[in-house]
Amino acid sequence: MHLPPSTDARDTPWHALSAGEALQRLQTDDRHGLAHAEVARRLARFGPNRLPAPPRRPAWLRLLQQFHNVLIYVMLAAATVTAALAHWIDTGVLLGAVIVNAIIGFLQEGKAESALDAIRHMLSHQATVLRGGERQLVAADQLVPGDIVILASGDKVPADLRILTARSLRADEAVLTGESVPCDKDEAAVAADAALGDRRSMLYSGTLVAAGTALGTVVATGTNSELGRISTLLAQVQASTTPLLRQIAQFSRWLALAIGLFVLATFAIGVLWRAQAPADMFMMAVALAASAIPEGLPAIMTITLAMGVRRMAQHNAIIRHLPAVETLGAVTVICSDKTGTLTCNEMTVQRVVTADHVIEVTGSGYAPQGGFLIGGVPITAQEHPALQSVAQVALLCNDATLHDGPQGWSLTGDPTEGALVTLALKAGLDATALHARQPRIDAIPFESEHRFMATLHHDHAGHAVILVKGAPERVLDMCNAQRQWPADGAGTDAPLQHDYWRRAANDCAARALRVLAIAIKRVPAQQHALQFADMEGGFTLLGLLGSMDPPRPEAVAAVAECQAAGVRVKMITGDHGETARAIGAQLGIGLGRPALTGAEIELLDDAALRDVVASVDVFARASPEHKLRLVQALQSRGEVVAMTGDGVNDAPALKRADVGVAMGRNGTEAAKDAAAMVLTDDNFATLGHAVREGRGIYDNVRKFILFMLPTNGGEALIVFAAIAFGLLLPLTAAQVLWINLVTSSTLGVALAFEPAEDDVMRRPPRPPQEKLLSGLFAWRVLMVAVCMAAASLGLFLWELSNGAAIETARTMAVSAVVVMEMFYLLNSRHIERSVLSREGLLGNPKVPLTIALCALLQLGFVHLPWMQAVFGSTDLSVQEWSRVLLAGLAVFTLAELEKAALRRWRARRAHR
Ligand code: ATP
Repeated sequence: MHLPPSTDARDTPWHALSAGEALQRLQTDDRHGLAHAEVARRLARFGPNRLPAPPRRPAWLRLLQQFHNVLIYVMLAAATVTAALAHWIDTGVLLGAVIVNAIIGFLQEGKAESALDAIRHMLSHQATVLRGGERQLVAADQLVPGDIVILASGDKVPADLRILTARSLRADEAVLTGESVPCDKDEAAVAADAALGDRRSMLYSGTLVAAGTALGTVVATGTNSELGRISTLLAQVQASTTPLLRQIAQFSRWLALAIGLFVLATFAIGVLWRAQAPADMFMMAVALAASAIPEGLPAIMTITLAMGVRRMAQHNAIIRHLPAVETLGAVTVICSDKTGTLTCNEMTVQRVVTADHVIEVTGSGYAPQGGFLIGGVPITAQEHPALQSVAQVALLCNDATLHDGPQGWSLTGDPTEGALVTLALKAGLDATALHARQPRIDAIPFESEHRFMATLHHDHAGHAVILVKGAPERVLDMCNAQRQWPADGAGTDAPLQHDYWRRAANDCAARALRVLAIAIKRVPAQQHALQFADMEGGFTLLGLLGSMDPPRPEAVAAVAECQAAGVRVKMITGDHGETARAIGAQLGIGLGRPALTGAEIELLDDAALRDVVASVDVFARASPEHKLRLVQALQSRGEVVAMTGDGVNDAPALKRADVGVAMGRNGTEAAKDAAAMVLTDDNFATLGHAVREGRGIYDNVRKFILFMLPTNGGEALIVFAAIAFGLLLPLTAAQVLWINLVTSSTLGVALAFEPAEDDVMRRPPRPPQEKLLSGLFAWRVLMVAVCMAAASLGLFLWELSNGAAIETARTMAVSAVVVMEMFYLLNSRHIERSVLSREGLLGNPKVPLTIALCALLQLGFVHLPWMQAVFGSTDLSVQEWSRVLLAGLAVFTLAELEKAALRRWRARRAHR
């Protein structure tokens, strides 16, 4: 039989075939999956399971688009006019400026785009498959038709699948059908002419498993999938703009308008009042407009954001939505999951409580090394049937497996369950033999909502049992008996002693242990399916297990750092209140305050919750709906909330939070889809670091604007003042263009690479409504612009009055502006802190580097004969150069003095 070629696969009505037929056509089987050699063959034939990248703008088009800009049109028009007047040098300079501007814009845009691209591709998608008889995790793009895929709630469907078996399966197919309510799915074939939305027996690539579990076989991959056909890919490309970028883009438009008017005024004053030659004034007006209008601003801002995003990615935080970068800097509350984020997620059972004994378990981690103690005295599991029976159920009602590899023992599956496998191995049980003796017939998987997992087993002697493990209060409610093991042997059932078990559970919880209760129920041998109704009673409690999940040491430090930064850390966990409080105390969260449980949250209405939420830091037994309510309550208090989550049901809370944060390792695809940021190491410390970076990035944006505005403004001011006061022009039009080329687009870019300042996490969060351009901004811009203009103009006039030639005075004025900008770049590294330190001057190697480059260009401008011919510059003597440097130093000193005064003023205000 032939495997259908890829094109035929499209026409096969997989949804109308039975599961068996589908398997047959695909030449695969649902117990072993494909053999590895066959996978390789099919991969070669069908290609990787990937959709082609959306077409990018070709480079030539991007370059051409740089010329599509009003400013460039004006400069080109000016070049034509100067050419008509036969001012060839001016024409050349203008055309040179146009070309260099376009190239710089092209490079900047390219850099911004590729930085964004790199970020987009960072999250790879994986799938669990059955190959060669083994379960394994593979990259989703390696799937081939015939692969057997295992899916659970929250997974993203990796290819088009024909469902083989399904349990309570529902899929969210909004990407494909637009239908926002998840639809039910099962393995029964449907009519061949069923519409896409009615094909219940299929799961489609790109959709999400909203609930339940499934086993399916791949029928179409890559472009052959339904998603590939309709190619909704464009819709998935994320917008690469942010509120801040929009604010800046709008600001630059206003600024451009203002500068346009200013330039017109300068032209009018020059021609009408000061009787300057209109041709010269025209050229000057064009040069001024070209230099003062910050056309590169949005691109440089994007680079700043993208650089920061890249730095975050190096530290395991991947930004999915660019705006989150800014919001991170303003976060006031972090709501974090406990397990795995604040703790190591490496569970070890430390205590087993049976009806007769409290048994301590030694050893740590997943390695099955350790033993059992009662009252400090070692015992063996063989002598304790109670311990054995608990361990057996813990091993059977379990989906985790442990592997003994070269790097020690490793786990596949849920750590809570992994700890139970280790316990069973310590008790000397053999997992394979046990599973063979009592095969699993059906199961209800664990979900945070119902907090238990149950399995149905048949042995070969005609007995059937339901095994359950879960949160004690849930399991205790199912039980009416407990098993006791008198010293001489056989276990007997006795009435349940609620108080004994409650106390034992609380005692474990107070020691920061996660508690699971284990119970069993006999059922008729005919029962082959497990329903929720089966869980309502009749169970016999076997014991309790207490597992330790120690806090991550780095999380303890990160929590303290966040708190010092004015960011409140709240812990939201599914665990028991006492366990949560005990772990919280170890982490420094909610010290001395009571914990609030999910049940208590339900008793509060929104207004009451809003009042309570401020004073509580630990939320226990909370489920995803509680998370959503907590986010809303905090937001209604004006807080900016970051919320972590991993499950499919966390998605609404993640979407609602100001920064939704999903876990990269243990998180579901649904959570990642809803989140703005993904932590690839699931670690709280990474989140703390991201807040730090977020603040740093916002600072860098401010630093760049604080650098650019006064330098552009200073230049314009020099020319304006000279014209208004009827002085000789200190800069020619060509020289204005030169300054623009050599400084404005190059120097400032270095600030995009600034690392976050040391004290960013010692400041309170930025008020979310804070305007980028505050009073401080206006003052600083004005002060520096006036200083620069005064220094340069002053130097020019002084040189003239001392008998210098106009060329020399102009060369000095130009050099002074360039040198002042170099010095001011150093000042701009810190907005308020001094830069008079080794770190301040050299902390960002890009800054001295760009300054050196700029200095070389300026030396060329002054001393190269052909530059002198083009720009009308002349050689400067050492004394003249020193005066130029002095001007730069003066601006540097003044800016530092201003910062010192500002710091004093702030300190005094804080004191009062
Ligand atoms: P956090 O919110 O801090 O990450 P969590 O989400 O891990 O905590 P849940 O997984 O919802 O919390 O667990 C809640 C409770 O459910 C646990 O305290 C435990 O009693 C029980 N439980 C956890 N995992 C399992 C499992 N695999 N099988 C049975 N019961 C479990």
